[in-house]
Amino acid sequence: MKVFLNKNSSPQVGIINLLVTQFVFIFFTLLTMPSYAKVIIAPEASTEETILHFDIGPGKYVAIPLPSSNKPDDSYTFKIYSKNKVYKDITTYLVDQKNLQLFQKSQTYKGIGYSRTKTPLSIKGSTNTIGKKYLVLDNTYAKFITKKIDISFKAKLPINEKKAEALKERLTGLYNGIRNTLKFKDFDIHVRPCGQVNAYSESNSTGNIHICTELLDNISKSNNTGALAFIILHELGHSLLGLWKLPGNNNEDIADEFATYLMLMGGAKSGIMLERSLDFWRNRDSKVEALNMIKNGDRHSLSIQRIRNIEENIRNNKEFSKRWSVLIYPHMTEQALESIIEQPPENANIALAKSILKKQGRNLDKDINVTSSNATSTESITNRLEKIKKLHQKGLITEEEYNTKRQSILDEL
Ligand SMILES: [Zn+2]
Repeated sequence: MKVFLNKNSSPQVGIINLLVTQFVFIFFTLLTMPSYAKVIIAPEASTEETILHFDIGPGKYVAIPLPSSNKPDDSYTFKIYSKNKVYKDITTYLVDQKNLQLFQKSQTYKGIGYSRTKTPLSIKGSTNTIGKKYLVLDNTYAKFITKKIDISFKAKLPINEKKAEALKERLTGLYNGIRNTLKFKDFDIHVRPCGQVNAYSESNSTGNIHICTELLDNISKSNNTGALAFIILHELGHSLLGLWKLPGNNNEDIADEFATYLMLMGGAKSGIMLERSLDFWRNRDSKVEALNMIKNGDRHSLSIQRIRNIEENIRNNKEFSKRWSVLIYPHMTEQALESIIEQPPENANIALAKSILKKQGRNLDKDINVTSSNATSTESITNRLEKIKKLHQKGLITEEEYNTKRQSILDEL
């Protein structure tokens, strides 16, 4: 009897959709200016490595549906191992839909692979045909032996032009938002296959950021846009600290702090995304990470340590943001500093923003926007203080409630 396994999850589906999902950086999108950066999307995307195991009984086979763009350029790399002690052979072929059907009808079929060959085996290539693709593991020739097969594979697929355009637009929008907020020498953003689940910055030179399609594939499985935003801002930390010639540009924990600070500054929505991004690290295996650290010299802290650090910084938001504002505000654009004074985000350092603008030769007293907005807010504070005083006099709020509320209004000054 033949068994057809229909595994319906295909890694390709979410690969680019994810980045197209809206980024939420309210603070960054206040102003618009032309960008001089290039966002370069490679014409193809690689999936991360998928590892699967199958026990294939005698007389049976499996056909594994592969991620596909339905274009003839889809190409694949497979590694096939048998866990059997003695009978390590299998028949295995990469086939398209038409040849899968021929195989199922026990007719002659065409594909790339091996017949009754001892593993380990590797298959690399493309069927050069349109439509779905499969890897067949065929044990129909065996009378008694179940084959225990491990396979790992990666797919390289052409990116749909529309999706590439949407992704480019989204990343350009994010870049422009950051450029309107912070001053730095322009750099490029590349999205391309790089053979591993990763993103990195050319922090010591150009500041260019590379986002690997394997990482997009990995994140798309958890659909965690917060994690993606955090990773991009982490790389931005490496890039900007490098471009500003500051120490710590290659330090992973400092890059994490940079990303945390920007996301906290982005307001409530990006704060939620930050919290959600922690799930991405929570799901990582510390043991595997520690081994990788020893073997490949990964500079990142273990995910559990990173979560602990990020959570602590969220808890100490006020103090944490104050320290980072000292480093970041001097690199802010005039418009961004003005917007901090006029519409202060949570934990903004208004006094620092004012003093930097003053140092840059701005006479704030004569600035209509700033003075008028300050006048309005001072006026509204006076009104609100009078209002709670009346409520207290009428006995509608307690002495304690009055004092707490009064202090919180005064803190806004
Ligand atoms: Zn890093």
